[in-house]
Amino acid sequence: MKEEKVFKDPVHKYIYVQDAVIWELINTREFQRLRRIRQLGTSFFTFHGAEHSRFSHSLGVYEITRKIISQFERNHYPDWPKEERLLALCAALLHDVGHGPFSHSVEEVFGTSHEIWTCAIILGDTEVGEVLRRLSPDFPEKVAQVIEKKYSPQIVVSLVSSQLDADRMDYLLRDAYFTGVNYGTFDLERILRVTRPHQGHIVIKESGMHAVEDYLMSRYQMYWQVYFHPVTRSSEIILRKILLRAKRLYEQEYKFQFLIHPLARLFVNDLTVEDYVQLDESFMQLVFTQWSMEEDVILSDLCRRFLNRKLFKYVTLEQIDEERIEQLRCEMRAAGADPDYYLELDFASDLPYDVYRPGDADEKKLPILLLNEKDELVEISLRSEIVRSISGIHLGRHHLYYPGDVMGELKL
Ligand code: ZN
Repeated sequence: MKEEKVFKDPVHKYIYVQDAVIWELINTREFQRLRRIRQLGTSFFTFHGAEHSRFSHSLGVYEITRKIISQFERNHYPDWPKEERLLALCAALLHDVGHGPFSHSVEEVFGTSHEIWTCAIILGDTEVGEVLRRLSPDFPEKVAQVIEKKYSPQIVVSLVSSQLDADRMDYLLRDAYFTGVNYGTFDLERILRVTRPHQGHIVIKESGMHAVEDYLMSRYQMYWQVYFHPVTRSSEIILRKILLRAKRLYEQEYKFQFLIHPLARLFVNDLTVEDYVQLDESFMQLVFTQWSMEEDVILSDLCRRFLNRKLFKYVTLEQIDEERIEQLRCEMRAAGADPDYYLELDFASDLPYDVYRPGDADEKKLPILLLNEKDELVEISLRSEIVRSISGIHLGRHHLYYPGDVMGELKL
């Protein structure tokens, strides 16, 4: 490229584009669509600043990857395969390109997966596919392999996808910034400086251990304070119930007053790539506004709750009492509400850092390795008490969600 392009970014200050192919990918319609999909789904109901998009996150992941590679190149580390630079940058930029509107809820109801759509967009007859094919006919396939974590050399995969990867580092900082919370920050510059390519792995110089501890603590805090916030979970539940109701109505041949393309295809899980890229959060917002006037009282009520933030209340359960829940379902039916749509038991749990178990196939679980002065690798939880203390499953609590206006204050 004649002149580098620069994006202003609140997290990284500036994002530098130096390769024509990256610039062309950013300007494809499939990538621009990410501007219309929020990074944090319905979290804006809880943290009103959380309106940032997957577009800004994807640029951020690209920028972190670019910085790491540039550090490797400046230091002439022999363990970094230089010829993989552009592939790693494309995979970083495109890793979330298949995310749909309110991904997690839609995926749960319709059984789709954003990873599959990401690969379909990269490999398909799309603008993204065309830009990649111009580099070489097999380039889209390579990008897809990195995203599916099947590419070799594996060091390219661990840059984009591991327990300390460009993806997680960007979203923690970005989500903390836009939600306005005080936790979630860590010293990214320091982590980037102590990152090394070593015998096919991305490792951290031992002197950088405390910066990594801080990163893992941020992740732990963000899960509990932001990602699993019960108010956000409540809005996700309503969203899922809307989609579930609409899907059932469609199956029962209900006559929708409003049903635009490609909704019917979504209901029967038969979308083409072309259909899929038409779906974004502006589209869903319009659909919900229209459905809030549908004749079906459950569908219209749920849509009004979502639009006007009349969310479900919740009670925390120390233990699950099946009998009591069944009794509540009956009470709810008597009060005129269908418990299939108005009562939900929810459980959140997280794994901030997963200690490596030999034979683990999932690269997302690749251990964080420290490189000591003697050139030996040590798994971080063997060195750090902090990491040890937050490793393993952190069990959450069960919450029971219900409409307060129908049931009053529930006592369990
Ligand atoms: Zn991501």
